[in-house]
Amino acid sequence: MSHVFPRHSRKIPPKVARGEGPFLYDQSGKAYFDGSGGAAVSCLGHSDPTVIKAIKDQIDTVAFAHTGFFTSEPAEALADALVETAPGNLDRAYLVSGGSEAMESALKLARQYAMEKGETGRRHIIARRQSYHGNTLGALATGGNMWRREPFAPMLMDTHHISPCYAYRGQQDGESEFDYGQRVANELETKIAELGPENVLAFVAEPVVGATSGAVPPVEGYFKRIREICDTHGVLLILDEVMCGMGRTGSLFAYEQDGITPDICAIAKGLGAGYQPIGAMLCTAEIYDTIRDGSGFFQHGHTYNGHPTAAAASLAVLNRLTKDGVAKNVKPMGDKLKAALTDRFGQHAHIGDIRGRGLFIGVELVQDRETKAPFDPALQLHAKIKAAAFDGGLICYPMGGTIDGKNGNHILLAPPFIMEDSHIPLIVDALDQAIAVSLP
Ligand code: PMP
Repeated sequence: MSHVFPRHSRKIPPKVARGEGPFLYDQSGKAYFDGSGGAAVSCLGHSDPTVIKAIKDQIDTVAFAHTGFFTSEPAEALADALVETAPGNLDRAYLVSGGSEAMESALKLARQYAMEKGETGRRHIIARRQSYHGNTLGALATGGNMWRREPFAPMLMDTHHISPCYAYRGQQDGESEFDYGQRVANELETKIAELGPENVLAFVAEPVVGATSGAVPPVEGYFKRIREICDTHGVLLILDEVMCGMGRTGSLFAYEQDGITPDICAIAKGLGAGYQPIGAMLCTAEIYDTIRDGSGFFQHGHTYNGHPTAAAASLAVLNRLTKDGVAKNVKPMGDKLKAALTDRFGQHAHIGDIRGRGLFIGVELVQDRETKAPFDPALQLHAKIKAAAFDGGLICYPMGGTIDGKNGNHILLAPPFIMEDSHIPLIVDALDQAIAVSLP
C-alpha cells in the first residue's frame, strides 16, 4: 500500500505509466485521450521533445539557484519573452511555481503598491461569484466558489463579490447581450461606491471563467466597462489567466480579445504545459517602478521563485506556442470541435449550452432545457460523467457549481493544441456515451 495522500482516499486512480502526444497510458496499457489537458494544463501533449530537451540541458547546467542570491539566464529570457508577447503595458514578470502562488503574489503586490503610493486605506478586493482563483487562503477568499470556500469560511479574509458575466443564466428576456454585460459590469461601480473608492484595492476576474462555470466567455463590451470603472476609481484590474491564458482561447492572452489590458495578470498551467510546475505574475512598469523607487523590495517571495529548470521548460513551451506556431492551431481546431459538439448535442434534451473560446469549451447539463433547471446536486452527475468518460478512454473535467458554486453540472474540454481532426470523433463519441450512461 502506498503512503501517498491521495486527492480522494476512497477513489484511488490508476497509476500513470507514460504519455505520448495527447494520450496518457496507465500501467495496463490502456490509452486515455487527454481531453482536458488535466485541468487545462497540457497544451503541448505529453512528449514534446523540444521541451524535454530544454529541461535536460538546464539540469545539466544548473538545476536551481535561489533568487535571493542569483538571477538566471532562463528566468531572464522567459520574463523578457512574456513581456514582449503580452499586449498592453505589462512590463515585469515575477516567476512562481503555480497559479495560486501567482494570485497570492498579485494580491500582495497590489496592496504594497497602494501602500507605497500613500493610499493606505485601499484594502478591499472585489471579485465575482462563481469564480476560482486558487486554493491558498488569499486566493480562496478571492474566489466565489461556494463549495470550495465553505469549510474554510471562518479563516478567509473579507472579500466582496459581484455577479459573474454569464449570459446563458443572467441575461434577461428582452435584454440585449451588450446591455446585460453593461448591467453586470456596473455592479462593480455600485460595490465600489458602497465600500468607498479610497478603500478599494483591486477587482479580480478570470477573462474566460474556467473551473467554476465551464469556459464562460464575457459578452462584448463587458471588460471595457470594467476597465473604465477601475480607471475612474483608481482600482487595479487583476486578471486571472491561470486557466484561460497561454493561447488556450485562441490568443496568447485571453484579454486580447476583449480589447483591454490589466494592471496585473496571473498565468500558470499552460505556461509550463505540465512539464514543470510554474506560474507568473505580470505587472505594469508603473507598479514595479513605484516599488523600486519606494522601498525597493517586494515584501513577498517563495523558495522556488524564478526556478531555472522550470523557467527553461516554460521558455521552450512559449517558443513552441509562438515561434513554432502551435498556438495557431487553437482557433481553427476549437471551431471544429465546438461545431462537432453542437452537431451532436445541440438538440440534446439535457444539454443547455455549449460555449467557450478556442480549445476551452464548456458543455452545461440541465434537467430541463426550457427552464434551465439543474439536476439535483445529490446525483453528482458531473462526477458520474467524469468516471464514465474515463472508463471510455476520455479525460474530461466535469464540475458541479455552474449556478451558485454548488449546484449545476458542466464538462470542461481543454485538449492539447497538438490534437488533430481524427481526435474529434473520439472526444464526441466518448462524451456522448458517458453522458448517456450517467443520466438518471
Ligand atoms: N486561478 C484559476 C483561474 C485556476 O483555474 C486555478 C487552478 N485551477 C488557479 C488559479 C490555481 O492554480 P494552481 O492550482 O496552480 O495553484
